[in-house]
Amino acid sequence: MSGMTSSARPFLNRRLAEFGTTIFAEMSALAVSTGSINLGQGFPDTDGPEEIREAAVRALREGRGNQYPPGPGVPELRAAVADHQVRRYGLAWDPDTEVLVTAGATEAIAATLLALLEPGDEVVALEPYYDSYAACIAMAGGRRVAVTLRPHEGAFRLDLDELRAAVTEHTRLLLINTPHNPTGTVLTREELTAVAELAVERDLLVVTDEVYEHLVYDGAHHPLAALPGMRERTVSISSSGKTFSFTGWKVGWVTAAAPLVTAVRSAKQFLTYVSAGPFQYAVAEALRLPDSYFDGLRADLRRKRDLLGDGLRAAGFQVHQPQGTYFITTDISPFGEKDAYAFCRALPERCGVVAVPNSVFYDDPHAGRTQVRFAFCKKDELLQEAADRLRVLAA
Ligand code: PMP
Ligand code: GLN
Repeated sequence: MSGMTSSARPFLNRRLAEFGTTIFAEMSALAVSTGSINLGQGFPDTDGPEEIREAAVRALREGRGNQYPPGPGVPELRAAVADHQVRRYGLAWDPDTEVLVTAGATEAIAATLLALLEPGDEVVALEPYYDSYAACIAMAGGRRVAVTLRPHEGAFRLDLDELRAAVTEHTRLLLINTPHNPTGTVLTREELTAVAELAVERDLLVVTDEVYEHLVYDGAHHPLAALPGMRERTVSISSSGKTFSFTGWKVGWVTAAAPLVTAVRSAKQFLTYVSAGPFQYAVAEALRLPDSYFDGLRADLRRKRDLLGDGLRAAGFQVHQPQGTYFITTDISPFGEKDAYAFCRALPERCGVVAVPNSVFYDDPHAGRTQVRFAFCKKDELLQEAADRLRVLAA
């Protein structure tokens, strides 16, 4: 024994040491401590449909889901997920063997990566990437390989040659996210077809995070699993948080071929086993809402995108128009600013608004240095107020 006490070495293991506290927690805490408008962490300031909230209350009162629900999720929700996939995308999944309910998409991502990766496996992920991807790849002992989405003709686009070049003999899977957080890019059918062809050619698994599937304003959402050769090799992940504006309920799901779902379930059962019993019944009802609900959500958010986008432009930001999600990525170079993180830390003091620096979503320290993300899933008055406050930057 060296005689070293446990406190003489850091508590957090080496795999997680680089991650610390998430940027969302940090920036939400900053919003609270400074009393600022929080356009950082992505959560709506208006709850989802009243009838769905009531469905959760009913389930609680009637004792549905108050004790451990079945490990794969309640049958009503698995059936509703399967029906939704058929109705929207013509994708047929067996609710008993090909659908798995998770504690939000976050657990779905963790369980999938823990289940599918061997230590040393490479994961090719789009950069900027959602923070939990990097942490979960690390927890699984994998290695992330970033392919950077770059601004091109007003939107962040995927360079298919770069994607192809990133695949090596060690690549186990491609981790795709469309609509993409934080850039708002919606991958086109052509781009996704190229991803699918690459996956088939190199015999790769694909994990696709589609939590913003219903938040598309320009173009359309195409699920990767529906493309030729993809059904057997794709794990699709989605969640009720964004689609139904109940981010606190943490009900997500995985759809994939039975052997993949079986693998993911093996990891999931030791993470949470199950979660959110009564909410699962409510989300089952939500997924059966008529098209008018989904159309209304999209129209509402499109208007908010334009409202905040106009405000940001008026304040002097360079705005990258998002085609989907509820985030706008801006560039702060027009202000002569060079460090998104420092800019975001100072913003509450300067104008009482909180945003998120995209730089933390990149491996490349230069790539996102001047990018800042604003969430627009907020009441119109609040977006207007934020825009008014940001105008001081233009002065
Ligand atoms: N993936 C992406 C791209 C996200 O933006 C988020 C945040 N909602 C998640 C996954 C996590 O979703 P959930 O809240 O359902 O865990
Ligand atoms: N998905 C949300 C965002 O991108 C945050 C979720 C979280 O705090 N983990 O802002």
